[in-house]
Amino acid sequence: MACQETSEYYTIEDYSRIKKVDTHIHTSADNGAFEELAKRDNFQLVNIVVDTKDPQFVLDQYASRTRLKTEYPDVYEFITSFSVETWDDEDFVEKTIAWLDEGFEAGAVGVKVWKNIGMEFRDKNGELIFVDDPKLDPIFDHIEKRGKTLIGHLAEPKNCWLPLEEMIVNNDKDYFRDHQKYHMYLHPEMPSYEEQIAARDRMLEKHPNLTFVGAHMGSLEHDVDELAKRLDKFPNMAVDLAARIGQVFYQTIHDREKVRDFFIKYQDRLLYATDIGYGGKQEAEAFQAFAHETWMLDWKFFVTDEWMTSDRVDEKFQGLKLPKEVVDKIFYKNAIKWFKMFPGE
Ligand SMILES: [Zn+2]
Repeated sequence: MACQETSEYYTIEDYSRIKKVDTHIHTSADNGAFEELAKRDNFQLVNIVVDTKDPQFVLDQYASRTRLKTEYPDVYEFITSFSVETWDDEDFVEKTIAWLDEGFEAGAVGVKVWKNIGMEFRDKNGELIFVDDPKLDPIFDHIEKRGKTLIGHLAEPKNCWLPLEEMIVNNDKDYFRDHQKYHMYLHPEMPSYEEQIAARDRMLEKHPNLTFVGAHMGSLEHDVDELAKRLDKFPNMAVDLAARIGQVFYQTIHDREKVRDFFIKYQDRLLYATDIGYGGKQEAEAFQAFAHETWMLDWKFFVTDEWMTSDRVDEKFQGLKLPKEVVDKIFYKNAIKWFKMFPGE
């Protein structure tokens, strides 16, 4: 009989025993619920600031992230961000670098840029700015010089440019049905999916030594072959899986072996993440049940070969049953490496 300690695979029961990191969450809640669950489920969390609204919103998130990091140093690392609202100011670059340095002194392991770059923010001439804009180069150079990681949520899932009936996951159908403003299929005057991805790729070509984590599978979530091409081309690029596990399930329905081979081949470049957000309004127990369920489903998918269902896709799919060493990297070691986090572990 195989002894569990020497088995090549984890089981469902190993879930709370194995150290894990969710590298992409957003929380400002101060009721202790997220931290209590994280400790119970053996998760550490990377809490991300994001430039979604205005400069004050960045400051507010920054305040909550640093407070939580101080209060729960064993649970959290955090990632800072900067607002592009002052883009046209003469001292934009200088002030942004000074602001990021303040975050690094406070312990930020990286900087996030968001899809407002490329898809929303316009300069004083009314032009969209893109992530390969030369104005951003000194900022990215500085992040590299400080040994920090740039995380980019750039573009959107390819579904965003498709009609609802062609989208491959139900959560995107629901989201874009409710947020027509962001449904690019309805806005053909806006840049195409390919243009957004190309701008990101040009930025990476300019900064080959910058450590870059593409949030949401680098917006190449719909096709592991397309993602593999970028990972081959940019050795300093990794991706997180945040909010795109549905697309992984979808591809698994159609070609499980291909998806499994991809996860094994690129085991050093993939970071487990969910994009769970918690502001503290939802009742603690309900939130904990939701987050626990999300994490458990993903754990089951990666470690077992059981047949599973998810509300994100319409058909059943079989877990990938990845070897232990691959699971250890995706759920823990890659986070430590790509964000240089929790030093000393
Ligand atoms: Zn997010």
